[in-house]
Amino acid sequence: MIIKSADFICSNTQVSKLPPPLKPEYAFIGRSNVGKSSLINMLVQKKGLAKTSQTPGKTQLINHFLVNDTWYIVDLPGYGYARASKSKKADWNKFIQNYLDKRESLQCVMVLIDSRLEPQKIDLEFCSWLGEKGLPFVLVFTKADKQSNLKTDQNIAKFRKAMLAFFEEAPQHFVTSSELHAGRDEVLGFISSINQN
Ligand code: GDP
Repeated sequence: MIIKSADFICSNTQVSKLPPPLKPEYAFIGRSNVGKSSLINMLVQKKGLAKTSQTPGKTQLINHFLVNDTWYIVDLPGYGYARASKSKKADWNKFIQNYLDKRESLQCVMVLIDSRLEPQKIDLEFCSWLGEKGLPFVLVFTKADKQSNLKTDQNIAKFRKAMLAFFEEAPQHFVTSSELHAGRDEVLGFISSINQN
């Protein structure tokens, strides 16, 4: 897919104020610091579109970015910020679940996973919740440049295996590095294939 334009449309704290659900959208989500903003900027080749390295867990916003005037990247607040209070975490859950559950134009949830790490409970729990809700999702492993390909492959294999505890088969996955612009064609190709259907 050729990216001709990518524009920030709005930030929302309320699901009721989102843009009308008239264009396909793809929600990007993961633990704080997983590399979500970097990945979004890399995909659309626009530095600074999504704000990188904000204080993790601080802003609870749903950001809509319109790509090629035809589809949205939706930047969701990161989960699993260790220092967030219990009530903050509960707010996050309610807010995001409400969005994911109700958004009719949502095509697929792009779950970002740090490829440097062994399977994390919070990521697995989130995937399990998506499965329970019947929401389509794929895994996007980030920061693959940070270690050897072998280590990345091992962590991915462990994650996929851990998913088999609650899924018959692991979902499709992508390996990315925003630093090296790796995985861009694959992720955009996937989105493009859904948009054409
Ligand atoms: P977010 O909190 O999930 O939006 O994460 P950011 O995009 O702000 O990234 C968190 C940190 O990881 C920043 O210091 C980034 O420069 C770094 N980072 C993000 N993606 C990559 C990547 O693909 N490779 C490397 N080496 N660093 C990355």
